[in-house]
Amino acid sequence: MPHTTFFRFLLLSWIILGASGCDTKDGLEPGSGEHIRIVSQAVDDARLVNADETPGDWLSYGRNYQENRYSPLNQITKSNINELGLAWSINLGTTRGIEATPIVVDGIMYLTGPWSIVYAIDARKGEILWIYDPEVPKGYGEKACCDVVNRGVALYKGMVYVGSLDGRLIAIDAASGKKAWEIITVDQTQAYTITGAPRVVDGKVIIGNGGAEYGVRGYVTAYDALTSEQLWRFYTVPGNPTDEFEDQAMAEAAKTWTGEWWTMGGGGTAWDAMAYDPRLNLLYIGVGNGSPWNREIRSPGGGDNLYLSSIVALNPDNGELVWHYQTTPGDSWDFTATQHIILANLEIEGFLRKVLMQAPKNGFFYVLDRTNGEFISAEPYVYVNWAKRIDYQTGRPVETSFSRYVDANVAIMPMAGGGHNWQPMAFNPKTGLVYIPAIERSMIYGQPKNWKFNKDPRHWNVGIGFDEEKPVIKNPQTDKRYGKLIAWDPTGQKAEWVVNHPNDWNAGVLTTEELVFQGNAAGNFVVYDAETGKELWSFPLQTGIIAAPSTYSIDGIQYVTIAAGWGGAGGTKDLYTDQLNPGAIYTFVTGGNENPPEFPKHPPKKLIDLAFEATEEALNHGGELYRKCSVCHGGGNLPDLHYSSAEIFDLFPRIVGEGLFLGKGMPNYGDRYSDQDILDIKHFILSEAQKRRTANYD
Ligand code: CA
Repeated sequence: MPHTTFFRFLLLSWIILGASGCDTKDGLEPGSGEHIRIVSQAVDDARLVNADETPGDWLSYGRNYQENRYSPLNQITKSNINELGLAWSINLGTTRGIEATPIVVDGIMYLTGPWSIVYAIDARKGEILWIYDPEVPKGYGEKACCDVVNRGVALYKGMVYVGSLDGRLIAIDAASGKKAWEIITVDQTQAYTITGAPRVVDGKVIIGNGGAEYGVRGYVTAYDALTSEQLWRFYTVPGNPTDEFEDQAMAEAAKTWTGEWWTMGGGGTAWDAMAYDPRLNLLYIGVGNGSPWNREIRSPGGGDNLYLSSIVALNPDNGELVWHYQTTPGDSWDFTATQHIILANLEIEGFLRKVLMQAPKNGFFYVLDRTNGEFISAEPYVYVNWAKRIDYQTGRPVETSFSRYVDANVAIMPMAGGGHNWQPMAFNPKTGLVYIPAIERSMIYGQPKNWKFNKDPRHWNVGIGFDEEKPVIKNPQTDKRYGKLIAWDPTGQKAEWVVNHPNDWNAGVLTTEELVFQGNAAGNFVVYDAETGKELWSFPLQTGIIAAPSTYSIDGIQYVTIAAGWGGAGGTKDLYTDQLNPGAIYTFVTGGNENPPEFPKHPPKKLIDLAFEATEEALNHGGELYRKCSVCHGGGNLPDLHYSSAEIFDLFPRIVGEGLFLGKGMPNYGDRYSDQDILDIKHFILSEAQKRRTANYD
């Protein structure tokens, strides 16, 4: 029979057998507590090190320790891609961004949603087994720069590990969904948040944190996976030199800083990327931006400010620094090097090199020797104007004359969101290409006037401004704004093919032998030809997509799962689809023909029209305060207040000043804003809506 028919037959047999209570290969009832206990306990060090030997499971965030997000599963191919259809879906009913990669072991899936909530799913049936809600205090959302997202869990010896937004590391029993232990990994009075997936290396859970937009000092910590005992902590930037430095790495780093950076945190938060080479026994960590962003403020005498925007290689036994490579010395742009790190072996100039690859925010694609951190090559993967190139002798960027925006307001590219953000890329050893979800977009950087660090941990402290007395530097290229999927040849350091997206905030990537899978802002899950970039298949998921998919097999059949849920840094500001629907999980299989979830139709948007009286001065004051509101209510995944109902405006003083909607994540501003402040904000929004109505703007 033709193979598509054969897969239909397999699927059918599976449904029939499944209905009659077929056993797993261990003879256990699939999805039963005992089955989950046994399959999750089997995820041990050997399984994690040899993840490539069990491609039917997706055991950790990047699938293997190389984090290449390449799956050798090859039932879904170019020739049968038209048969790919929906096996099942689950409407999670969530309203914020979903960034998690589904982790799967023997058909049991673990995924996280907004507010660090963990879902365990029986992927055979598409049914939720348990939900673990860490009950993050909703006021904590205000300390999160980029939505209340979470990128997923780690599995180890029967436990599911998640980092919660409020800085806890939680171990959950994989079978029961009950908490085994939790430990607070941060000072919760500061603006620390966790959005990244923990990794497990040699019995240790490794977890970092975020918060460098607010004013914190970054670090990563290793805990004993079974006992929760803290084993080591590596700080990424030095503290106050009058205190004792924690280690030699901090003493060395302090020589590259000036001024009183520690009073503003310094930054360097390690909020996403990690990879591990078990043979070299090196754990690679991507380090974030400076806090504040602006080096003129943070380290006014200059300096490289180690280990900001660096890749650090640590000995996972004790957390000691082995080598470092700084992608952006003296970072002044939020150019984190926390972006996805992929390990591979590449033939370069006739030699097989053990390399580490990264496309950090700064716009250059780096290939480093991962044994010692030696620079091999770096070329721009998007338009770059802060640096002319990377000097191949020194491995350092050659900055342009205006890069530090001292004498002008400069449209810098890439922008703070990066040429590439957290959205995972993927490396395909068959094509030799790295598929990068990239961003072409600029941002104006300028020096602020009379800037002061604000110690309130809810306060955005980046130290960027616009000086009206200075000129603006920009060019036609910096006016462009779009996204792209780039197939990058890391040895030739050039794009093999590019697919342009009309919108700049798209999803993470998965690759298999012949295919590349990526969701996009418009809400379509798309499959491309890995060789040519030709679009082969597309499926509408009814809301914007940012998360990366994973693929796995159950009882010999290959599946692909992706979570849709619009949000994250770009998704709180903009909406690129008219379908802002709740978060949902979609699983695809060859021959699948289930219907997607149905969501209620949205009533047409209507600008609020309410009479009000306010002075010009009061409206200006409201407008000033509204800038804080617009960080979240700027037209993305949270309500655009210009379209709120009269009932909402009735409740406005209680929502803003009494925390009426705290349960939905709307902070209580009662401790900061007076009744008059709140009224001024309300009137400002009403006046803006009036302006839009007059201009026939809907
Ligand atoms: Ca940042």
